[in-house]
Amino acid sequence: MINLILFGPPGSGKGTQADRLVKKYNLHHISTGDLFRKAIKNKTDLGKEALKYLDKGELVPDSVTVGMLRKEVEANPKAKGFIFDGFPRTYNQAQALDNLLNELDTEITCLIELRVADEELTKRLLERGKTSGRSDDQDTSIIANRIEVYKSETIPVALYYATSRKAYIVDGVGSIDEITERLIDRIDIQSNSK
Ligand code: ADP
Repeated sequence: MINLILFGPPGSGKGTQADRLVKKYNLHHISTGDLFRKAIKNKTDLGKEALKYLDKGELVPDSVTVGMLRKEVEANPKAKGFIFDGFPRTYNQAQALDNLLNELDTEITCLIELRVADEELTKRLLERGKTSGRSDDQDTSIIANRIEVYKSETIPVALYYATSRKAYIVDGVGSIDEITERLIDRIDIQSNSK
């Protein structure tokens, strides 16, 4: 089983690259951001709760997010592995994910961070905001808040996996194809060393 965490700040290209990697490795893609946006669109209770946070660029509380993630993993017992995109975003979420995978007799293969400078992120997000319809991509102060939250809450997740030598960095600047190649090179090294 390959269980990959695609990591990186908002706008680093996780979703774009995840779409390519799921095809190549036949994995199940879980994007917590997409799951929240779907719940918001369907006006479910989860969606109503999540909206309060997404609108401000804050994190949805761990209890809500972990519950949703667990349900999604358990709904796919036949998956050959998972790509986690946008999860874990806090130290607590990382521990919860490790516990869940442990229950399923598996583990995280590696975390790969797409590294992109802040100015480039803001530029990309504002550009995406013109067509995505995402209000959190259209306001510079919400974007700045998301980048700040990434630094304070989410970077510790990479440090957590670095202690078990599972964290890697890939340059997230270049053409989409080039970045996919960099990710594939890294994943192949990791999965062949198992
Ligand atoms: P981006 O990576 O561009 O910020 P996402 O689609 O991954 O976009 O996430 C959008 C929003 O959804 C986040 O700003 C946050 O409010 C919420 N969210 C997504 N994943 C998580 C998570 N793991 N924990 C808490 N909140 C989350």
